[in-house]
Amino acid sequence: MAIKSNFKTSLLLSLLAAALLLVTTPAFAQEEAEAEGVRYVVQPGDTLSSISVRFDVALNELIEANSLINPNNLNVGDVLVIPGIDWIEGTLVLQPLPIGEDYVSLKRRYLLSDADMARLNRFTSTSPEQIYTGFQVMLATEHGELTESARALVRPGVSLLELAVASGDSPWGLVAANQLAGTWAALPGDVLFTPGRPGNGPGGLPGEVANLQMVAPGFLQGATLQLNFDAPAGLTLSGEFAGYPLHFFRHEDVWVSLQGIPLDAVGERYSLLLSGTLPDGSPFAFAQPVRVAGAGYERANLTVRPELLDDQLNASELAYVAEIMSQVTPERLWERGWGWPHDLVNEITSGFGLFRTYNGGLASSYHTGVDFGGGALLAIYAPAPGRVVFAGPLDIRGNATILDHGWGVFTGYWHQAEIYVSVGDVVEPGQVLGIVGGTGRVNGPHLHWELWVGGVPVQPLDWLARTYP
Ligand SMILES: [Zn+2]
Repeated sequence: MAIKSNFKTSLLLSLLAAALLLVTTPAFAQEEAEAEGVRYVVQPGDTLSSISVRFDVALNELIEANSLINPNNLNVGDVLVIPGIDWIEGTLVLQPLPIGEDYVSLKRRYLLSDADMARLNRFTSTSPEQIYTGFQVMLATEHGELTESARALVRPGVSLLELAVASGDSPWGLVAANQLAGTWAALPGDVLFTPGRPGNGPGGLPGEVANLQMVAPGFLQGATLQLNFDAPAGLTLSGEFAGYPLHFFRHEDVWVSLQGIPLDAVGERYSLLLSGTLPDGSPFAFAQPVRVAGAGYERANLTVRPELLDDQLNASELAYVAEIMSQVTPERLWERGWGWPHDLVNEITSGFGLFRTYNGGLASSYHTGVDFGGGALLAIYAPAPGRVVFAGPLDIRGNATILDHGWGVFTGYWHQAEIYVSVGDVVEPGQVLGIVGGTGRVNGPHLHWELWVGGVPVQPLDWLARTYP
């Protein structure tokens, strides 16, 4: 009985298996062919499990859909199929928002709807309002995007038809490419992609402003922001960041702007405003969404004599110094890299950016310079050519010297024992400005060195590591 039963069972199983094979083989063969679905380019720092979490796909499904890829050896640039995402086609790429682009310019450039942008950036936990320069945006490519397209400013009194004729596009082509509701919806001041002509440059600015670049590290607390761009003669440009006006200087056939990023701007959201007029007088304006990243400066708690926490004296002396160091002279006095102001370059006793709280939080301040130790009577050198704009005693800063280097760049030297220069002197790099002392409010003799750009103290050591611009 047992044998017969077994035979019957195995016969049944064999038949069943054969039937299953007949039914399932074609479907199985299809799955083995090129896996379908949206693709994702592996980024630095990605792992298979971080990708599965980001796209809410089970790890085993991800491995199955990408059978050719060794999950233990994922490489940056590998292209993975992401199963289950069927509402968009192409390749998903994660990239930092470039300078000169914003939410609108990106969705136009990549031909993505608001709904697509919102769904794509749920993968980065970013809403459209949180898309800032330098922060990652998720985009889908291979949609015939307008990466090589020129842009044109909609000028007051110029119709979309006229703009289309000038750019070699059809009016309805411009409407579609720029996601406008109709030909009537192009408003003066808007910058449109004009696919009829090739071009490069940021999508948020007219084609006349080309090759806009933000030099690293970009929007970092205490850093010097450097922007470069090309623009024709006759174009005027103005700008503003965190309440400070931007200044633009011509240098080796490009325009350059330098601006300090305030230390206390960390984590804050701003609009970097760039506006101006084209050579024909047409106005334009662009607001760059920005969030300032932290530089990881240390914090310290100090206890000092209470009379040293004189807020009024602090504020009035700072205002006096800031007034001097916020001027802008258009001539750049430096040509090459900068030198150190002090011989003992390894004797930095307190770094730039240190956040100090005093007497249990009664007061707090950022350290806006670099302290060089090593004792009194050491020489203080001019790090670059400059003009002496202040030389004399101050209550807190002691014997102080301020140099104007041009382009809104100033340096300050506090607590000196003696000052060897006078207002109006033009100093050479390496010239001795004075000697280290302990004048003003100090615990001991040291050189406190500050560097200001556009009215904001910045990390001075950045200026010794590279040349601006
Ligand atoms: Zn200091």
